Amino acid sequence: MAAQIEKALEKAEKYVQENKQTVAIAAGATTAALLAAYAYRRAKNAVPARGPFPVDTLPADAYDAVIVGAGPSGSVCAYYMTRGGAKVALLEKETFPRDKYCGDAVCTPAIRILEDMGVLQELVANNEAHFADAGGFVSPNGTSYIGVSKQKLGQAACCAVKRINLDIRVAKNAARAGADLKEKFEVTGATFDKATGLWTVTSATGETVRGRVLVCADGATSRLATKLGYCTEAPKGICSRAFVEGGSHNTNYDGVCFYPKWSLPGYAAIFRHPNDELNFCYYLIPCGKDGYCGDVKESDLARLHNDAIKYDPFISKSLGPNAKIERMRVASLRLGGQGLKTTFDDHLIIVGDAAGHIDPYTGEGIHTAMMGGKAAAETILAMRATGDFSARSTKQFETKWRALYGHDFWMSKAFAEIVYRCPLLLDAVASEMQRKGDAMMSKWAEIMTNMQPKTYFLRPHVALPLGIAIVREFFEQKVLGSKKDNYQMLPQEAAK
Ligand SMILES: Cc1cc2nc3c(=O)[nH]c(=O)nc-3n(C[C@H](O)[C@H](O)[C@H](O)COP(=O)(O)OP(=O)(O)OC[C@H]3O[C@@H](n4cnc5c(N)ncnc54)[C@H](O)[C@@H]3O)c2cc1C
Repeated sequence: MAAQIEKALEKAEKYVQENKQTVAIAAGATTAALLAAYAYRRAKNAVPARGPFPVDTLPADAYDAVIVGAGPSGSVCAYYMTRGGAKVALLEKETFPRDKYCGDAVCTPAIRILEDMGVLQELVANNEAHFADAGGFVSPNGTSYIGVSKQKLGQAACCAVKRINLDIRVAKNAARAGADLKEKFEVTGATFDKATGLWTVTSATGETVRGRVLVCADGATSRLATKLGYCTEAPKGICSRAFVEGGSHNTNYDGVCFYPKWSLPGYAAIFRHPNDELNFCYYLIPCGKDGYCGDVKESDLARLHNDAIKYDPFISKSLGPNAKIERMRVASLRLGGQGLKTTFDDHLIIVGDAAGHIDPYTGEGIHTAMMGGKAAAETILAMRATGDFSARSTKQFETKWRALYGHDFWMSKAFAEIVYRCPLLLDAVASEMQRKGDAMMSKWAEIMTNMQPKTYFLRPHVALPLGIAIVREFFEQKVLGSKKDNYQMLPQEAAK
């Protein structure tokens, strides 16, 4: 073999010696072609320094951006745009204060943006935010840990704010900064005129608003993006919500996630509000076969939600026999960019739930909506300075959101699949928390609240102890059989 290789090399050397000129020309031509391809790609992707629509071409009655939807993504975008000197219309179909079905858990990246906008201070001053101090989770075999991560992290990993309070404060803050907030403005359509570079956005009552950039921020159903052809599927995730009256329950922690094995990778969660009111939610996360959320379907949600309240050993105990619980409300979750091929086009940006920017494992999207809203504002302000609003410029938005949080979606999706197929992983994490206490708990909290990306799991100081914990759990559960399953099936589930 070695002799054959040597022979082949000798042959090649001889060929090069004999055809020196031809080889040199071929090498030169290849290098030139590669350089030309690289230069072409760079030029194609470069953000134009100048475009056809500088600021002074904007008609007096038009806006730099028309934002459809004044939820967290739209309102944050409006705030940062107006702070940057742009003229913004923020269109909302409801009138504030309005409710939004949500778990109300506001993660650290959102807390930071709220603080930067001055809204966090308002929420705290009005006793509308409850910072999670004591929290934890119950694993699929009933191993639980409730600890305090705040001291380890130096701050609470999240806080609970009712959306009826959060959304009005964020939207009115944008209006105070200068955005033209139009409530009761239900957008029914939008058309783009290439010649003028303007969108005309129409309401259900026939009113129109014109703008240079259209920002679709109308939530998980993505009606406008669907109408314009950018979104091609209905959302595949779903979540319930029910408030529990303060003083009527037995809950003494701030936030706990429950992982009953029959609905993995979905989970139930309880978060406490400032007035001792609770938010009870049940998330079904798309996973496994198409149309399924693990072993269950969207149509199972009502049963899972109501049975959990009555029969789940941990949830029913936490709520107690006298809990005053409102009826279940439901809304959809569009996770990990599901159903959209792109979030940008000429003069167009899609952001927040409308773009599917919900974490595919946790189902959380307030922080990504706010981070995306801010990234959209920065992109539009940069375009406003150049006058170019083509897809080559709006693409910067996609680059930004991918760098901020989108890069982590694949790992979140993979994690959801792993948890579904191997619940033991969560048991191992809970056991490790019981052994190591708040040090492990705070690492988990950091990842679950997006202070760290999910790829943090792969770092040696996290992966190594976790790997050992998984092996230990496997032996205890599967080999020695020394671990009892404390998460008993609900009566209905057992009867199946
Ligand atoms: C039950 C449930 C629990 C959840 N729990 C959590 C949680 O605990 N933590 C977390 O971080 N995330 C959670 N999420 C996700 C979170 O609610 C969303 O990610 C977040 O609200 C996204 O913000 P957004 O601004 O993109 O969209 P939205 O908050 O949905 O705002 C969209 C806005 O657009 C308006 N709108 C819609 N159509 C039109 C129209 N045609 N014209 C004008 N206005 C329009 C709507 O009225 C709304 O105000 C949960 C979601 C659900 C459903």
